Amino acid sequence: MDVATARMRLESMLAELDRSISVLRGDPVAGRDRSLADAGADLTDADRTRAMLDAASRQRTAVLAALRRLDDGGYGRCVDCGTLVPEGRLEARPEAARCVQCQSRAERRR
Ligand SMILES: [Zn+2]
Repeated sequence: MDVATARMRLESMLAELDRSISVLRGDPVAGRDRSLADAGADLTDADRTRAMLDAASRQRTAVLAALRRLDDGGYGRCVDCGTLVPEGRLEARPEAARCVQCQSRAERRR
């Protein structure tokens, strides 16, 4: 994948994430006038919204970091070991910062 394609895909992902995040932030559940009866259900909805918002924010951070790597020329190389991230992996996840080995190591650390 060439740099121009990567940038285009990352920028459209970023736009998509920004849209999701603003929808999630404006979720009517948060401001809804609720009775005690459905307070439990609302809590579940609010939790789900927060979880989705967390995931979207994390991905947004990853996309922004990938765009920065495009600018400084480090894009496509694993941030941990410096080897080239396989083309197929970047096709699937243009925001990927690590090769598969380092990514699974990083996830085990969590
Ligand atoms: Zn690596």
